Amino acid sequence: MSEADFEIIVIGAGPAGATAAASLARRGRRVHVLERGHFPRFSIGESLLPQCMSHLEEAGLLETVMAADYQPKNGAAFTRRGQETAIDFRDKSTPGWGTTFQVARADFDQRLIEAAQAQGATVEFGASVEAFHADGERPCVEVRDENGETRTLRAGFVLDASGYGRVLARLEDLERDARQEPRAALFTHVEERIEDPMHDRDKILIGVHPEDGGIWYWLIPFRDHRASVGVVGDIDKLAAGGTTLEARWRALIDAEPRFRRLLAGCRAIRPVSELRGYSADVERLHGPGYALLGNAGEFLDPVFSSGVTIALRSASLAAPLVERQLAGDAVDWEAEFEIPLRAGIDTFRAFVDAWYDERLQTIIFHADAPPEIKARISAILAGYAWDRSNPFASASRKHIDTLATLCRLHGEKRAAASGSDP
Ligand SMILES: Cc1cc2nc3c(=O)[nH]c(=O)nc-3n(C[C@H](O)[C@H](O)[C@H](O)COP(=O)(O)OP(=O)(O)OC[C@H]3O[C@@H](n4cnc5c(N)ncnc54)[C@H](O)[C@@H]3O)c2cc1C
Repeated sequence: MSEADFEIIVIGAGPAGATAAASLARRGRRVHVLERGHFPRFSIGESLLPQCMSHLEEAGLLETVMAADYQPKNGAAFTRRGQETAIDFRDKSTPGWGTTFQVARADFDQRLIEAAQAQGATVEFGASVEAFHADGERPCVEVRDENGETRTLRAGFVLDASGYGRVLARLEDLERDARQEPRAALFTHVEERIEDPMHDRDKILIGVHPEDGGIWYWLIPFRDHRASVGVVGDIDKLAAGGTTLEARWRALIDAEPRFRRLLAGCRAIRPVSELRGYSADVERLHGPGYALLGNAGEFLDPVFSSGVTIALRSASLAAPLVERQLAGDAVDWEAEFEIPLRAGIDTFRAFVDAWYDERLQTIIFHADAPPEIKARISAILAGYAWDRSNPFASASRKHIDTLATLCRLHGEKRAAASGSDP
């Protein structure tokens, strides 16, 4: 074992880790990133939200993202039992970016970490953090390299951005119930030849299973006629559709008429993958000498593509606090990090819960929502969940409830007048 010193150690080089490393390195801090894997590597989480853009900009990472020529994204389109609707992020009530990108994460994550390196962060790949010692002034990590050798590294502060690795959640015994049903996702990348003029490549397409509102689909177009296609739902229901992952994925896609039509001639270009029970949460997002970023802390559900946004938000909130702490200031991590970060996550949670109990589906598929209400919903779905001036952020559950009830009653009245189903 040998010892080395850094001002900040970051565990994990995904979007949260790269953004934190870049932010701190450009402030002149000595940051070292320990990444278990080797980049480029596949990762799920390809549809960004416009709120990401200002965080990328702040961390000096926007230039490399803009240079990548990714597929632009300006909103989300929805399909359910033949009903089509869309939310355009540019109509949002919160000021700021209204567009973003859909990104193949292998390339995106590599670009971000390379840009962090260019700003002065050092990065070690193939370096897995296996143990941790919390300490308000000199926390340390034990890192194992690919030859099986371990070293102890000390730092002034440790940021855990290990995502699904959940390093400090496990080692510091912070895990708590995620308060989400355990769901699964089946997904792959396809080569597609979609020619339907109604298909808007600038939007993620979200579909709802015609017979089960708890099963939903995504179609995320990339450049070059490639796309990410996945389905999410109850673990047992997703397992029931076939003997192989490919067969289950195809059977579920074929069950939704618009997805079946759009993807009729597509070819999977990587094996279908499955992720189960990915929702996670922790008792607290900070402790002596450390804080948890992105998925290493809390992960809800992918339905509103909020994961990378929360990861970047957490990094952008934490970086100036780490800097202040290293400069000798007393930082109140609860008041200045955990509470403000959780406020936006709780807004997303209210939206996710309302999606699965179908109140949000009632709102989204309601044809006549007033534009000012649509603009506020659009702001949340664009990632501006921390905008407390938006009542759908500051009192999400109450406003979703009221609006869903109004939409339902209005739908029933209209259906009664026309003699059709609501
Ligand atoms: C089915 C599904 C679909 C999703 N779709 C979207 C979407 O469309 N849009 C969106 O924004 N989000 C989406 N997400 C969420 C998204 O995947 C994550 O929120 C995002 O990747 C979190 O970034 P991160 O930097 O926190 O963690 P990660 O991207 O997971 O990065 C963590 C890094 O830490 C490394 N690591 C792990 N353990 C160790 C260790 N012991 N030592 C060193 N390094 C370690 C890993 O190798 C990894 O590179 C989706 C999630 C799921 C499950």
